[in-house]
Amino acid sequence: MPSTPIPSWTVGDLTVHRIDEVPLPPATGPWLLPGATPEVVARQDWLRPDFADADGVLRLDSHSFAFVLDGLRVLVDTGIGNGKERADPAWHDLRTDYPERLTAAGFPPDTVDLVLLTHLHADHVGWNTRKADGAWVPTFPHARYVTARAEREFWAGYAMDEARTQMFRDSVLPVERAGLLDPVDVPAGGLELAPGLRLVPTPGHTPGHVAVELTSRGRTALITGDCVHHPVQLAHPAIGACVDIDPRQSEATRRALLASLADTDTLLLGTHFAPPTAGRVVPHGDAYRLRPVHAA
Ligand SMILES: [Zn+2]
Repeated sequence: MPSTPIPSWTVGDLTVHRIDEVPLPPATGPWLLPGATPEVVARQDWLRPDFADADGVLRLDSHSFAFVLDGLRVLVDTGIGNGKERADPAWHDLRTDYPERLTAAGFPPDTVDLVLLTHLHADHVGWNTRKADGAWVPTFPHARYVTARAEREFWAGYAMDEARTQMFRDSVLPVERAGLLDPVDVPAGGLELAPGLRLVPTPGHTPGHVAVELTSRGRTALITGDCVHHPVQLAHPAIGACVDIDPRQSEATRRALLASLADTDTLLLGTHFAPPTAGRVVPHGDAYRLRPVHAA
């Protein structure tokens, strides 16, 4: 059994579980979001102590979300993965209890029906595969792995460096070769995968990036993926990530998304947000802040 409880939130009839993988190290913030300097962070006292420490160091996590919707067992993003060879020491050769946590939350890997990949970056596709007898095999053998067609096609035409090639080799291609990868067309208005489950195009971080919207009995939640990495970006939507493929589009996406969420009941679930991870977007100064909603 995992050492700590599995947090969850209620959205109408749905229960959304957070499956923790690892906290990201303190050096992640300054590298990933260089605009979020300690001075910028210090001015947003609502970020402390949950989302930043007293010195203005941002807290970021790696986790997935899992839920059952009308019998469909869904996992959103698959973290960094165990035993992957990665240049970043924080991502290299992890040995976490992620599969045990999934199982404890009620999602043994062979029962997952649908894996939604917000985009194809190494910290979102890692548990797509696991090592068995020296080979990378799909962790979720009965699942359809869905990503936007624009995302798959972008990387197919991209001159990948060795690190990215390696990631595709161990975490994307084995799923594709097994016939489990299902690229879908996501129109500008979003794609309904099932009643209450929608992919929302949120390009910029990557061209085919999608957020995931859940609706049940009039309640809505939105899983960010990486269109927002950290709550500091609610106060400063112009702060982008160093790995955004198109920084201007990323900012425009963030501004439009936050404007659409402000003062609504929508529960924002951050893919890299440290606990409490979730909240509502409320106006604050000339932008927004997150009003946290604590997990059960
Ligand atoms: Zn990420």
